[in-house]
Amino acid sequence: MAYIEPAPLKDKENPFEAMMSRFHVAAQILGLEDEIYNVLKNPARQVIVSLPVTMDDGSIRVFEGYRVIHSTILGPSKGGIRFDPHVNLDEVKALAAWMTWKCAVVDIPYGGAKGGVTCNPREMSAGEIERLMRAYTQTMADVFGPDKDIPAPDMGTGPREMAWLMDQYSRYKGMTTHAVVTGKPLVMGGSLGRTEATGRGVMVSAMAAMEKLKINPYKATCAVQGFGNVGSWAARLLHERGLIVQAVSDLSGAYFNAQGIDIEKAIQYRDANKGSLEGFTGAEKISNDDLLTLPVDLLVPAATEDVITSSNVVSIKARLIVEGANGPTSSKADNVINEKGIMVVPDILANAGGVTVSYFEWVQNRLGYKWTADRVNRRSDRIMKDAFNNVYKTSQEYKVPMRIAAYMVAIDKVSKTYKYRGGY
Ligand code: NAD
Repeated sequence: MAYIEPAPLKDKENPFEAMMSRFHVAAQILGLEDEIYNVLKNPARQVIVSLPVTMDDGSIRVFEGYRVIHSTILGPSKGGIRFDPHVNLDEVKALAAWMTWKCAVVDIPYGGAKGGVTCNPREMSAGEIERLMRAYTQTMADVFGPDKDIPAPDMGTGPREMAWLMDQYSRYKGMTTHAVVTGKPLVMGGSLGRTEATGRGVMVSAMAAMEKLKINPYKATCAVQGFGNVGSWAARLLHERGLIVQAVSDLSGAYFNAQGIDIEKAIQYRDANKGSLEGFTGAEKISNDDLLTLPVDLLVPAATEDVITSSNVVSIKARLIVEGANGPTSSKADNVINEKGIMVVPDILANAGGVTVSYFEWVQNRLGYKWTADRVNRRSDRIMKDAFNNVYKTSQEYKVPMRIAAYMVAIDKVSKTYKYRGGY
């Protein structure tokens, strides 16, 4: 077999440490007391369960499941459930803390949590996934609750799995409980506007940042990495606001056109091509690494974590980065970005449109009422804009990058609330 050169090592970081390094800087600038630092550093609760599931061939397999509740200081905890072979407690802990900061930045009354099961849903039948989701829900039935802990979809789960979760929880309680989970199908209490919510929030954050940087959207160019839910909605909405989207990409590679990609055509192509842009015409094929270093005004990483790292950060030419993905910039790349004077709208702010509309889903479920898409969009745009302005003001006042400012806004809110509520 021919020798294959291994891919260059990226700054693959332990997600919990990456999050903590930013938390630490923000806490120091705020002068956070050691006692409160320790409270916020540690998850409030970590649940690990064994889930025996009967497989289609009659055998019984035992899966390991997690739910980490990082904080309930601001309200019931909120966070997705990930079905993936790489799920582990450390990752779930980091993602749970991330949710605490995200909810606090956009000022919604939730704490943070995350769940996961170590499994490979791509190798399981629908029936096996359903039994696993029902077993997980049943075991976590005392952890979940509309006023306690509200799950949502994450990698490897979607509306179908949330429907099973809602049904299993409702059976356990003996009453229909829509508000126990968000991200449900529209026909059973899902919210209009949820599908586009994260990409829409990315667009709102980008427009707000461009205003501050005095970038005229009608003359601005943009590159979007990732053409899934977040990336394609962000590209479409940015294009609608006048930007020339010069490049988009997915796992098949990146597609560049200096005059602008026809986003509607790219979406239609992807949908007709099993979700992939492979073979898309009307653009020159470049690599995902090339996309990141294009001389554009705005770069939107909306694919996966750790793509802007110490190995490529010096070549980044964008004036503005709006993080659609969670953790696309390694903490080692932060300093270079700051030295280069690039503004970054960080993930915990830029992609919080999704959790904001999840919150609206919960509110509608509790009201027993349905809002129009227009009402959902107007309210989430307002929340995103206010959050952006708040973080921007903090960054100006303390002369810190937007990422640190976002952590400061979040930590300040959670720590002040903790002091009012009091400990033992
Ligand atoms: P998705 O699965 O719909 O799409 C991911 C896209 O990225 C696909 O086009 C895939 O081909 C591409 N991709 C994956 N790895 C890549 C790589 N190495 N290089 C280039 N492209 C790559 O996922 P999504 O829901 O759009 O989520 C994208 C990111 O946004 C994730 O980091 C996710 O955690 C984050 N996020 C999503 C939401 C949401 O509401 N969907 C909310 C907050 C954060």
